Amino acid sequence: MKNKVVLGILLVLLVICVVFVCLFIYFNNKDTNISKKDSVSVNINKDMEIAQSNLRVPKDVVANVPIFMYHFVLDDYGENPDVENFIKPSTLEAQLKYIKENNYEPIFINEIEHLENYTKPVALTFDDVFVYFYDNAYPLIKKYNIKVTLNIIADYINGENYLTTEQIKEMLDSGLVSVESHTLTHRELIYLSDEEKKKEILDSKQKLDDLFDINVSTLCYPVGKYNDTVIDIVKEKYKYGLMMTGGVYNSKKHDLFEIPRIYANRSMSLNTFANYLSTSYVKVTW
Ligand SMILES: [Zn+2]
Repeated sequence: MKNKVVLGILLVLLVICVVFVCLFIYFNNKDTNISKKDSVSVNINKDMEIAQSNLRVPKDVVANVPIFMYHFVLDDYGENPDVENFIKPSTLEAQLKYIKENNYEPIFINEIEHLENYTKPVALTFDDVFVYFYDNAYPLIKKYNIKVTLNIIADYINGENYLTTEQIKEMLDSGLVSVESHTLTHRELIYLSDEEKKKEILDSKQKLDDLFDINVSTLCYPVGKYNDTVIDIVKEKYKYGLMMTGGVYNSKKHDLFEIPRIYANRSMSLNTFANYLSTSYVKVTW
């Protein structure tokens, strides 16, 4: 009888123990599940915050961007009458060095709509872009790690003294060069029929897009000549139009299809170059 009572008590104790152990395991798991869930949701929240900050649209951006226009990078201009279009490689090097040493931020033209990402933006653009760019400028661009925009005459590719498809591909692969359109044949658009205008403007983009698997967004008007019809056609497939004159670009003042540039000519001093750079600023209101 006594044994039965002891056995009964032991059994009850055992059941109580098992119940406690089960409850302990249950609640312990519940806690860790909750905290796991919590940490997952914290991570998701963090990711969302980062994504939101990347997608954040500024209330207002006011910016000044000096956009320089270059042509040939070559010491010897030979018989050419447009001497000022030939900038010495040593002059270009001094300018690139100045940009680097003074922490200016080179942007591609197609980055001009996101100036909130920069504080001291500057853009270097090269028109026509004969093979001298590849020989004399590209090594300097790489040396100083400076982004530039090339305005390519699409039908000139692989022609005499012009860039080859391979050279352009190589430069695109470097990440330092973006390719935009300077039409098919560099004819002055305002003197062409509407059909010819369309061909020059739209077919050049198509050709460059197909050749290099890119999305050309800028039309650089040959000899800076354009009118309303030209702009209407450009607006069909492009986001930006580049002029040859007009000074420093201001995001409030200038239209994206009439982006002004500064002529970086042969006789421009480093001092003048630096003065233009000093006008660069970005003011963002979030
Ligand atoms: Zn040109």
